[in-house]
Amino acid sequence: MRQEWQKYQTGLAPRYTSYPSALHFNDSVGPERYGRALSAIGLYEALSIYIHIPFCAQLCWYCGCNMKVENRYERVMPYVLALQDEIRMVGGLLGGRGRPVSLHFGGGTPNFLLPADLERILDAIEMELGLTDDARLSIELDPRLVREGDLDALAGMGFSRVSLGVQDFDPAVQAAINRVQSFDMIEHCVGLARAAGINDLSLDLLYGLPRQTEATFADTLAKAISLSPDRLAVFGYAHLPQALPRQRLIEEAALPGACVRADLTALADRTLIEAGYRRIGFDHYAKPDNALAVALREGRLRRNFQGFTDDRARTTIGFGASSVSFVNGLYAQNEKSVKAYQGAVAERRLPCAKGIVRTGLDTVCAAAIADLLCRFRADLSGVFAGVGETHRRRMMARLDALAADKVINFNRRDKIIQIIPEAYGLCRTVAAAIDPRIDAGAVLSRAV
Ligand code: SF4
Repeated sequence: MRQEWQKYQTGLAPRYTSYPSALHFNDSVGPERYGRALSAIGLYEALSIYIHIPFCAQLCWYCGCNMKVENRYERVMPYVLALQDEIRMVGGLLGGRGRPVSLHFGGGTPNFLLPADLERILDAIEMELGLTDDARLSIELDPRLVREGDLDALAGMGFSRVSLGVQDFDPAVQAAINRVQSFDMIEHCVGLARAAGINDLSLDLLYGLPRQTEATFADTLAKAISLSPDRLAVFGYAHLPQALPRQRLIEEAALPGACVRADLTALADRTLIEAGYRRIGFDHYAKPDNALAVALREGRLRRNFQGFTDDRARTTIGFGASSVSFVNGLYAQNEKSVKAYQGAVAERRLPCAKGIVRTGLDTVCAAAIADLLCRFRADLSGVFAGVGETHRRRMMARLDALAADKVINFNRRDKIIQIIPEAYGLCRTVAAAIDPRIDAGAVLSRAV
């Protein structure tokens, strides 16, 4: 890694799965405003459905998700019932408008729920929102909780895509993050998924974990490739123990430094490309015939709450604690705690806690940032035209600095920026440089 890039290797720029990012959500959006937005959805508007299952059997120390360790299954039943009630409430506001084209279960651990309970939730979506047979269903799975028969049951419900949380195969790394799962276990899950006819299989890996070295990560990558997943996501671990107290369980001295982190990303990139995968945005890889790679080739790749996607729906409706909806320029996030979420639903209120309405400038910035993250190139003329003089000067100074450090090529006249290939891993930092909603200091102290 170039020495002048070390200062950018903090891993703390926003993930930009939404713009504005969740940091900026506030109480300007509540149940009433979100309800009005839902009521204005078009008759045939394509909908992407997200359902959050916040329960896990055990705590992974690196975890940054909204989750809750639960050890008694009967305690999750009120949540399943609340989800069904929320779906009915939203269905009532939609009144038959909107068409779900995709549905994703995320968490937490969606397969903490038994297949019969997942099916109950799907039935409610089908009944209230008109889920059709051609909608694409996907789910995140914890391999440690996959039971015999689960994959067949999921395939029978129509799930065609699963992602398995792997993170790292090295036993020392697994012990250092409290997530122990053998290669044989993952291989068995992959076999079950394939045997069930699920042919869009993704593995999630994580770099920047304690005890990771180039040698251990090379072995993890080789093992992952041997399973021939259709996609891989290679996320960077963000160590934020102040914001996430559970990460204090991680031994800080065992964390790789900025240079090693950069080497691990470069290693993953090189290894996966050599193995025949296409790079999708800055942290996903897919086989050339996978839907994500096809979307990239055809200019349809987008970024949404799940990361990079070929989903054509522009509207997302999220169900469950902490889930985020995006409806007609409005973001709405549900109550984060399970208790507050269930309480709101029990009172027949939409459980929306906060959100934000995009301004015209937000929409322009969102498009530029999405271009940067998906295609590493953006036309900034709209952003420059929309911001005030102070930010214009600040943005110009930041871009000049990035150009001087050879992170980007910047055409000052046309306002076109292009990230150079070796610096693709820094594209979130580049996005933060043009983001008028954060100033330079805030990128490091507040963003996750
Ligand atoms: S399984 Fe996923 S959500 Fe649950 S603790 Fe581990 S990382 Fe967090």
